[in-house]
Amino acid sequence: MKIAVLKEGAAGESRVAATPETVKKFVALGAQVAVEAGAGAGASYADGDYAAAGASVGDRVATLAGAGIVLGVQGPDPATLGGAAPGAWIVAGLNPFGAGENGGRARVDAYAAAGYEALAMEFMPRITRAQSMDILSSQSNLAGYKAVLDAAGVYGRAFPMMMTAAGTVSAAKVFVMGVGVAGLQAIATARRLGAQVSATDVRSATKEQILSLGAKPIFVENVAGIEGEGSGGYATEMSEEYQKAQAELVSAHIAKQDIVITTALIPGRPAPRLISDAQLATMRPGSVIVDLAVESGGNVEGAVAGEIVERHGVKIVGHRNVAGRLPADASALFARNLYNFLSTFWDKDAGKPVLDDEIGDAVRLTRDGAVVNPRLLS
Ligand code: NAD
Repeated sequence: MKIAVLKEGAAGESRVAATPETVKKFVALGAQVAVEAGAGAGASYADGDYAAAGASVGDRVATLAGAGIVLGVQGPDPATLGGAAPGAWIVAGLNPFGAGENGGRARVDAYAAAGYEALAMEFMPRITRAQSMDILSSQSNLAGYKAVLDAAGVYGRAFPMMMTAAGTVSAAKVFVMGVGVAGLQAIATARRLGAQVSATDVRSATKEQILSLGAKPIFVENVAGIEGEGSGGYATEMSEEYQKAQAELVSAHIAKQDIVITTALIPGRPAPRLISDAQLATMRPGSVIVDLAVESGGNVEGAVAGEIVERHGVKIVGHRNVAGRLPADASALFARNLYNFLSTFWDKDAGKPVLDDEIGDAVRLTRDGAVVNPRLLS
C-alpha cells in the first residue's frame, strides 16, 4: 500500500499530516510512503528527515502515482489528485459542514464523483478506543493554549500579580467561555501565567473540572433544562430561557474581566453567540477577547476571521487555524492521530487498513461514488 503525504494547499496552512516519526512507523507496518517535496517545511520538518525515515520525496505527480491512501491536514482539492489509485482513501480534516474552498458539501460530492473514499477525521466518535485518533482533541488542546498566549500578546498589561518597588501590578482576570478540550487548556494556561481565572459552560459536568484547575465556575442556575449535554459529550443548543439567563450572567461578569477566551461550538451548527456588542461595550478599554469559534460563525459579535479588530476599546482577536499557529507540535499530534487510526485497522495479510466497524461508519463520507455518511444525508 502506498501512502501519499501532500503539501497542504490551503492558504495559511503550515501543518503537515505526517512527520518523519510517523513515516518510520508506516514503513515498519509495510507501507510505502511518498512525501511531496516541501510538505513539512512550514512545520520545520525537512525533506531529508522524511527520506531518512524511509519515504521517497518528490513532486506531486510522483507522490500521488498509484497511492491508495492520501493524507492531508485539510482536504486536498479533488482536482489535484490525479494519479492516485482508483478508490483511494482521502484521510484528512475534511470540514464537510464548512463553507468556502477548503471544505463544504460540494467538495465531498467531488470526492464521491471521482470515486475516492473520503474519511473525515473530525467525525471520529468520542469513544475511549478512538481517543488517540481524535484530531479535534489534539488540535483544540493546542488552540486553547495558544489563545491565551495570543491574548497576552496584545494585552497591554501583565498577567500575574507583581509587587515591585514602583508599586503593585494586579493580576489579570481571565474568563473562559466553553470548557471543552480547548477551554480546559486555556484555563490551565492562564493559571500558569498567574491570572485569576473563571469559566462557564452549558454542561454542568464541567463545574468540577473548572474547580480542579483552580478556577471559579460561573453558571446559570435555577433554569429549567439547563443540562446542555447531548450525544457524545457535545453541547446542545439551549432553550430561549436559558440563553436569556446566560446573557444576564455574562453581562454582569464580563464587565469585570480583562481577558475573555470563547471556545463554544455545537457540531454541525453555527457557533452560539455568547457576547453581544452591547455586552462588549461594558468591558474596560484595553480588554482583550479571543474568539476561537470565529471560523464557525463566532461567539462574539463583531469578531472577524483572520483579523484583530477593536470595538469600544476592546481588541477582538479572530485568528484562523489557531492550532496551526503552533505548526510543529500541531503536526506531530495530528500525524500521530492519523497513524493511530490507520495502524489500528491495518490488516497484515491484506497489507493495508480494513475499516469495517463503527469508527469506519462514523468517519466515512463517500464510498463507491456516493455520499454515504448519515450526518450528511439527514
Ligand atoms: P466543543 O469543541 O464541541 O465545544 C467547546 C465547549 O463549548 C464545550 O464544552 C461545550 O459544552 C461548550 N458550549 C457549547 N455551547 C455553549 C454555550 N452556549 N455556552 C457555553 N459553553 C458552550 O467541545 P469539545 O472540546 O470537543 O469537548 C466536548 C466533550 O467531549 C468534553 O466533555 C470532552 O472531554 C469530550 N471529549 C471526549 C473524547 C473521547 O472520549 N474520545 C474526545 C474529545 C472530547
